[in-house]
Amino acid sequence: MKENIVIISGAGISTNAGVDNFCSFSGTGLSSQSLFHSSAYCILERAAQLHSQLLTIFTSASTSGPTSLDSLMEAWAQRGRIRRHYTQNIDCRSDRLPSLSQRTIMLHGRVDTLRCSIRPQHTFRVTAESFSHLINDRCPLCEDEQKQRELEGNRRRSTGSLRSNVLLYGECNPEEPEIVAAFNDDLHRPVDAVIIAGTRLAIDDLRNFVGKLYEKAKSDNRKCLIVWVNRESPKIKNDFEIDHVFLGDCDEFTLAMAA
Ligand SMILES: [Zn+2]
Repeated sequence: MKENIVIISGAGISTNAGVDNFCSFSGTGLSSQSLFHSSAYCILERAAQLHSQLLTIFTSASTSGPTSLDSLMEAWAQRGRIRRHYTQNIDCRSDRLPSLSQRTIMLHGRVDTLRCSIRPQHTFRVTAESFSHLINDRCPLCEDEQKQRELEGNRRRSTGSLRSNVLLYGECNPEEPEIVAAFNDDLHRPVDAVIIAGTRLAIDDLRNFVGKLYEKAKSDNRKCLIVWVNRESPKIKNDFEIDHVFLGDCDEFTLAMAA
């Protein structure tokens, strides 16, 4: 049994919880890259489509129970076996897994948080119910600051509006310093296994990170086991060897691990 496990997860781990996969959106006529692009905030209709899809994800994630893979990851986290869980998912499902959530880094933002369009440090947690009411509203923190400035006789400043805190294509990640710090921390500690679950690992930075973990283990004369869990076989050009490829459902992988 491996300790010091790094898990990198994607949309495939949420499928069995009933949360729509990013690749399977229909009805908008847009690809996920177009739907989830920062330019959506330049066109009212596109922003409405984006918010509608985000609310669908938020609602389905809020009402879903844990999958068997969730339970396995939580059990591993409770036993201190998970060094880190990096997820590309925005659905915040890992929040309901108390030990795993402490080890989870959400790479692409959170569907349960709104952020000010002008001052990204202004963020607000919402529920699936309050999301629709608050999205596009004037930022309450900007308004509070405005009142204070008026009292102090200062000139007015622009007030932002509340937008989604999900990372969109074409924009910089406000969480990047935290993510880079976690990457660096993991590269300076022993990692015995990397499990790539429910993602094609198409993002260069993530693929390079796995390559660096693999190389670091090699230079330390250790073995870092790389496990691929997905319905699709790996089609990536990588700098590391994949030791085990489990082709199938992420939850079937859980059964295989238990056997
Ligand atoms: Zn604001």
